[in-house]
Amino acid sequence: MAYTGSVPDTAVRRLDWMDQMACRDVDPELFEDDDQEHEARTICIARCPVRSQCLARVKTMERGKHRDQRDGVVAGLTYVERHRLDADAPHHQGDAEVLKFDGTERCGTHLALLRHLWLDEPIDSKCWSGKVKRDRKNRGAASDVARAVS
Ligand code: SF4
Ligand SMILES: [Zn+2]
Repeated sequence: MAYTGSVPDTAVRRLDWMDQMACRDVDPELFEDDDQEHEARTICIARCPVRSQCLARVKTMERGKHRDQRDGVVAGLTYVERHRLDADAPHHQGDAEVLKFDGTERCGTHLALLRHLWLDEPIDSKCWSGKVKRDRKNRGAASDVARAVS
């Protein structure tokens, strides 16, 4: 007799949200390229309707892994940030320090943005404009370097 069982519900839900990923039609290299970190982060934060699901998934999949076992930007966070924020991950000498939040992070700073991203809190306008300003500054610094070496 043919198998008539239904697909497990969790698998169906997982596929449902994956259909809405804003990165679906974007070159995956953009999310792996350190120089395009700001663009990748913007797609996750400003354009992706399923960032919460993506965040929950990446937290589960990467929990306890070292930085070297992680890649790229996922759910608006770089692999280094996800490593620093994972309390279960091994942290070796020479790794960037572990990040912990105590609720005093000031909106508009990078640390506050990281807290919102990691704890799946709404991104307020101060944190968003702070990100945009830092992106502009970093782009300016990058073009200064490019001019200096050309
Ligand atoms: S939040 Fe996740 S699913 Fe959405 S664009 Fe970013 S990496 Fe892709
Ligand atoms: Zn904020």
